[in-house]
This record gives sequence, C-alpha cells and structure tokens, in this order.
Amino acid sequence: MPLVEYIGSVSKVESITPNVIVLELKVSSEFKFEAGQFVNFKLSDGTKALPRPYSILSAPSKKGVLEFCIKLVDGGFASEIFKKIIIGEKITFKGPIGGFKFAKDSLNIRHCLISTGTGIAPMMSILNENLGKFPDRQFELIFGTKTKKDILFEGELKKLKKEHKNFDYKITLSREDWEGPTGRVQQLIPDDVLNTDFYICGLKEMVIHTKELLLGKGVKGADIKVERYT
Ligand SMILES: Cc1cc2nc3c(=O)[nH]c(=O)nc-3n(C[C@H](O)[C@H](O)[C@H](O)COP(=O)(O)OP(=O)(O)OC[C@H]3O[C@@H](n4cnc5c(N)ncnc54)[C@H](O)[C@@H]3O)c2cc1C
Repeated sequence: MPLVEYIGSVSKVESITPNVIVLELKVSSEFKFEAGQFVNFKLSDGTKALPRPYSILSAPSKKGVLEFCIKLVDGGFASEIFKKIIIGEKITFKGPIGGFKFAKDSLNIRHCLISTGTGIAPMMSILNENLGKFPDRQFELIFGTKTKKDILFEGELKKLKKEHKNFDYKITLSREDWEGPTGRVQQLIPDDVLNTDFYICGLKEMVIHTKELLLGKGVKGADIKVERYT
C-alpha cells in the first residue's frame, strides 16, 4: 500500500546538546504509528527536495504532535535546513515506516534496548509507551555517547526509573572519563543474554557489531531487532 503523505507544522525547536535538537511537529490526529517506527521527511533547501528518514521520539499516546531528536551534522543537507528551521514552518513527511517496533507478543520477559547517539529516539518512544503497559516485563536501556555534554534525556530517564520499577538504564561515555561507565555500549551487555529481546539502534558499525556479538553469545536472530541510521 502506498504511504500517505502528511504535513506537519513546526511547533517547537529545542537544542538539547550542542549538536542535537528536539523538533516538534503539530500533526493531524489521523496519523497513527507504533513506538519505534520512523517517517520520511521531504526537505527542501529552495533548489532541491530530498528525503531523509527520522525515528519518532515521542510515544503514540502523545496525541496531536510528533517529536524527533535530530543530530545536526555540519554541512549535511537536512542538518543545514534544521539549523534554520522556524516555528510555523511546514514539513511534508510520509509514514509510518519500519518493523522496528516493540514485540508485544514476545514470550521473553526481558527487553534490552541498546543505542548510541540519536539512536535513542525510538527507544524513548518504546519506553514511554510500554513501561506502564507491561509492568511484569523488565526493560533495560544501554545508551552510549561521546562526552557528558552529549548525554540525551538524562532527566527523563531518571524520572522513568523512579516511576517504573521495571526499568533501569546505563550510560557509557566513549570519549570522556566520568563517574559512570566508559567505553563502548557492547561492554555493558549483560552476561545472561538468553530469553531476552534485544533492540539495537544507531550508526551502522555499532549496530552490526552489537548484533554479531549477541548472535555469538547464542541469542536467536528472531530476538534481535535493529534500526540502522546509515
Ligand atoms: C531509519 C532511519 C532513521 C533515522 N532516524 C534518525 C533520527 O531519529 N535522528 C537523527 O539524527 N538521524 C536519524 N537518521 C539519519 C538521518 O536520516 C540523516 O542521515 C542525518 O540526519 C544526516 O542527514 P543530513 O542530510 O544532514 O546529512 P547528509 O547530507 O546526508 O550527510 C552529510 C555527511 O554527514 C555524515 N553523517 C550523517 N549522519 C551522521 C551522524 N549521525 N554522525 C556523523 N556523521 C554523519 C554523512 O556520512 C555525510 O558524510 C535516521 C536514518 C535512518 C535510515
């Protein structure tokens, strides 16, 4: 079935780290999606229009708006447009797209979400949507980023942990020493990996490496869901 095209109106743009923004679009209530999915923006710089996919950060239960968490890459086509975007501007997008969704019917009780950088976006949607709905399942987020100033949604993660006994998270930094873990996300993967659903999202190398590591530890391919940003 062809994807439907929607128009969103920019209702908020917030810098949350030196190079990441949260973009909020007001959208029609006809747009429905599942936590974890993405949409394809059609972005124009005035001379040409190009598609760019972005995971939905907000949960489906948040009605009337969609939020996105976007890294601004210097010189990037979309990034340069987002740097100048203003409230009220219209953005055309198609969606929802993708099979990176929470496996509601899984028999596994444990769910381990592994992400780096803005790959945390679909994880936040999955967590916000499902922590309360599935109190008997265990959720853990492993989030990796470069330095302390690049940490995303730390306040929200603390709040989720306080509100939901079935949630915990770990943050690791790859380029700065701090009071928490350092190094790659793979180092924080629990020893006991069986009977667990894994969700992995981020740049290509991290996703491929993490999936190979899990398969090597005996995790079934069907228990690993991935979303690659390149
Ligand atoms: C399914 C899917 C979902 C995605 N969801 C998100 C999301 O939620 N948030 C988000 O920020 N991005 C997301 N992306 C990536 C996004 O679509 C763009 O690729 C990214 O925003 C860069 O686009 P650009 O036009 O600014 O840069 P381009 O003009 O396409 O690229 C410019 C240069 O920057 C490099 N580059 C691109 N991305 C990065 C990066 N992250 N770090 C360092 N260098 C980079 C490219 O290799 C290239 O050399 C997603 C990608 C996919 C496939």
